[in-house]
Amino acid sequence: MSKTILVTGGSRGIGRATCLLAAQRGWSVGVNYLKDKAAAQSAVAEVERSGAKAVAVAGDVSSESDVIAMFEATTKALGALDGVVVNAGVAATSSRLVDMSVERMRKVFDVNVLGAYLVAREAARRMNKSRGGNGGSIVLISSVASRIGAPDTYVDYAGSKAAVDAMALGLSKELGREGVRVNAIRPGVIETEIHATYGEPERPYKIGASTPLGRPGTANEIAEAIVWLLSDASSYVTGAIIDVTGGR
Ligand code: NAP
Repeated sequence: MSKTILVTGGSRGIGRATCLLAAQRGWSVGVNYLKDKAAAQSAVAEVERSGAKAVAVAGDVSSESDVIAMFEATTKALGALDGVVVNAGVAATSSRLVDMSVERMRKVFDVNVLGAYLVAREAARRMNKSRGGNGGSIVLISSVASRIGAPDTYVDYAGSKAAVDAMALGLSKELGREGVRVNAIRPGVIETEIHATYGEPERPYKIGASTPLGRPGTANEIAEAIVWLLSDASSYVTGAIIDVTGGR
């Protein structure tokens, strides 16, 4: 029997690599995206080529009604959920706090904090055994920024990811007896489009060169850790925050 996951921001970058790897391991996949429908459709087509089922579900994670709708669309197409990857996130252009606008900070906190909490809440409502669910695994995507603070660049983003770390700690304790495991991954600098989106395409290579492993990570290296946390291979792991940072 195939198991079903929903990956927010599953159309590009780390989310897309997770959808493809999970599909190869036998999962059916709900691929959430915000606006790039073509990227979501190509992720779905690639999942289907690997023999798994997938559905593209549009929606903004910072909108409660969109979050509820993306869960409903996924379960309608693929069946009850066994795992949710809380991955969708935004960064921002490098800046010191003194120069940050309220609009920028609001967007970072709306998507990365409120969005993550709304998606995790909806996951718990559907997977908790006391609410008729089968239990499952929630994987939160944090960042190494939560541990290093990202001075002179994105202290707002770092704070938003620290909230994600705190959710992993608290929610894992809340949901353990519900049969739901909750863990977080802290990626280091990873080769995705997020850096070019905010005007720094060379950032992964500059920062990656200074890590102990001497290079940036790939989306697939993060997906490997995520899919392990989704799977029964990690059945006694909950409340963990795992660094996948090349030693940074
Ligand atoms: P990415 O390549 O920029 O992809 C972002 C994905 O999120 C896209 O699928 C995008 O959909 C979706 N998305 C953005 N805002 C959304 C919203 N409000 N609602 C729903 N979906 C939304 O990003 P990435 O580098 O893979 O990053 C994924 C996660 O890893 C983020 O949480 C990020 O903070 C974290 N992370 C990344 C790195 C890194 O170096 N890449 C390091 C540490 C942590 P559309 O294409 O439709 O807009």
